[in-house]
Amino acid sequence: MKRKWWKEAVAYQIYPRSFMDSNGDGIGDLQGILSKLDYLQDLGVDVIWICPVYPSPNDDNGYDISDFKGIMSEFGTMEDFDELLNEIHKRGMRLIMDLVINHTSDEHPWFIESKSSKDNPYRDFYIWLPGKDGKEPNNWASIFEGSAWASFDGHRNQQGIQTYLEELKDRTFSRYDIMTVGEANGVSVDEANEWVGEKDGKFNMIFQFEHTDLWGKEGKKSLDIHTLKRIFTKWQTALDGSGWNALFLENHDLPRSVSVWGNDEKYHTASSKCLAAFYFLMQGTPFIYQGQEIGMTNVHFPTIDDYDDVAAKNLYQYETASGKSHEKVMEAIWHCGRDNSRTPMQWSAEKNAGFTSGTPWIKVNPNNKQLNVEESMARSGSIYHFYKQLIQLRKDHPALIYGSFQLELPEHDQIFAYSRNFKGETFVVMANLTETHAPTEAFGKDYASELYLSNYEEAALEETVLQPFETRVFQLKGTLI
Ligand code: CA
Repeated sequence: MKRKWWKEAVAYQIYPRSFMDSNGDGIGDLQGILSKLDYLQDLGVDVIWICPVYPSPNDDNGYDISDFKGIMSEFGTMEDFDELLNEIHKRGMRLIMDLVINHTSDEHPWFIESKSSKDNPYRDFYIWLPGKDGKEPNNWASIFEGSAWASFDGHRNQQGIQTYLEELKDRTFSRYDIMTVGEANGVSVDEANEWVGEKDGKFNMIFQFEHTDLWGKEGKKSLDIHTLKRIFTKWQTALDGSGWNALFLENHDLPRSVSVWGNDEKYHTASSKCLAAFYFLMQGTPFIYQGQEIGMTNVHFPTIDDYDDVAAKNLYQYETASGKSHEKVMEAIWHCGRDNSRTPMQWSAEKNAGFTSGTPWIKVNPNNKQLNVEESMARSGSIYHFYKQLIQLRKDHPALIYGSFQLELPEHDQIFAYSRNFKGETFVVMANLTETHAPTEAFGKDYASELYLSNYEEAALEETVLQPFETRVFQLKGTLI
């Protein structure tokens, strides 16, 4: 396997609108990001990915782009962008821009041209079909609930996409020493080679979403660990030696992992750390979503008016119109709505979490009083410090980057365990992903081992039981006792 800087990197995703506001208008911006670069560098981040900052009518919070070459005035100017890029490079970090090229805003000049007449040269940039009896031409659903027609061209992997991606790779990607990652919802492991294969792939890595489907909708709380094991083992094994994974649990479209797979009350710290170790040390480049490093949680706003997300608003309208109660629909939005990950970054216990001196575009999660960066940095043993340790551990041990992946304890109902092997070094990661004690034959008990990381006091560790959401990372020393 080839060594590459982007395989060794740790990435951090920023949702600019909610990260840091520099001018008090309630909207996060480029100067806000700039003011937090030292924080990110100190955490150990190598690569910063910022969600779209291009001009947009904001029907889908910046993912509906009307000009791919500009900076939206809410976020700043092109000079701000140049300064941000420069300051990132100065710190030895790199920047990933979010290139949304499979759909545009309905205010993009191409779309305006395309809809202007049937013989316009831009006509076939979009899909147009005549309506039937004054209604939509068919029942295609939008990815955001409701009809796909009228407002958005859908996200679908159209036939022929590889031809376009090949061209993009040849003419752009392959000319620079850059890192590329594709959001490839719906790509199966059998197709992985043409997406991320070292030779034929178009990207260095892709986000695959199979495991996030296990979040479940409508209050499904318990995690299907056996399916989770099957999915990760499949991707880890398929790409070993031939491609590369992008590892993530959270992003701007997903709920907070600690609230869905962990327990954000009784085991907030333990489960945040357990989930972190579980995904972070597999083979691939780990991504941290803003706030994940302090265990930010889902939010429970009481009314739909407190929400901004187009998907949540459409869902509410659709479900209440078809007879569901307000309470039932809100429960679903609390559980898996996209705004769970879009509330402002919680920097401090101050008003508006230190995110803005004005009125934030979306309310702050009220738990910022206890849960914030300032508090987490000041306290040893916090989730923040655990992430820092994880990042350092991964940087110190090539086995945790390049090592092959082997699922351990495959039949266990509670514990997700795996080993990483590289040039005679073996690391083992164990994570009890449930809130009950998990008895196990101590893995590797016949070998001497060195514990590198755990989320319970070392004195409290038992040899054959993992406590609720306990995780351990250790190295096998290879000598029989
Ligand atoms: Ca601002």
